[in-house]
Amino acid sequence: MGLATNLARLGKEILRCLNGKTSSVPVGHSVCNGGHMELHGLQKLTLLDYPEKTACTLFFGGCNLRCPFCHNASLVLKPGSCPTIAQDELFAFLRKRQGLLDGVCITGGEPLLQPNLAELLKRIRELGYAVKLDTNGCFPDRLESLIDQGLLDYVAMDLKNSREEYPATVGIPNFDTAPIAQSIKLLMEERIDYEFRTTVVQGLHTVHSLGAAAFWIDGAKNYFLQNFVDSGDLISPGLTAFTPSEMRHFLNVVKPHVKNAGLRGL
Ligand code: SF4
Repeated sequence: MGLATNLARLGKEILRCLNGKTSSVPVGHSVCNGGHMELHGLQKLTLLDYPEKTACTLFFGGCNLRCPFCHNASLVLKPGSCPTIAQDELFAFLRKRQGLLDGVCITGGEPLLQPNLAELLKRIRELGYAVKLDTNGCFPDRLESLIDQGLLDYVAMDLKNSREEYPATVGIPNFDTAPIAQSIKLLMEERIDYEFRTTVVQGLHTVHSLGAAAFWIDGAKNYFLQNFVDSGDLISPGLTAFTPSEMRHFLNVVKPHVKNAGLRGL
């Protein structure tokens, strides 16, 4: 279904979303055919998260990284304290929105930590939805398995910084970037559509580090720089964003390395 058609049919829902009244469905235990899933949030409509599609977004708890700028700190540090969403509620919602929404965004936390993700994605796809996965790139084998099973349509992978700056940027001393390199290589094989994106934060990123990060993905299809926004639920409070003009300068630095580059969140 085309974006224009969906926009017309979803008019009421869009207004509710823009008014901030759409966030999550009722809570309950989340189980996928017997397996526990840390499904903690459902944004019922997003026009921004899935390129050129109307979508909803599912939030999974838990993450192996501790990025200081993480804007979902509760979901990462204490997912057990966040209410879960029952899968019957989720699928009742998805069935109701069939033909109205194009896709489902899977985000977190780090969704690839969920042991039963493939099963969940199969059920979502059976309803006709396209699936976009957000990942931190730490689990290339799991990512490849989902791609091989034909369960993904689009992957957005975080490229946190240059290799040298990765440990500080993900909050893990001695962080091994080998899995990140493997995920980069996998996506750049272009078996499915993808993007890399970097949340840019004062004190963690510089012209030099962003240039080196872009060089790492030299030739990539899409690369987006996202300006940091303080959600009020950060792992390390007190961080600040760059100015729009600094972000435009960073964009000019990374542009020569990728086919398509852009800014988000200005
Ligand atoms: S920003 Fe993403 S990768 Fe980093 S801690 Fe938060 S959820 Fe994990």
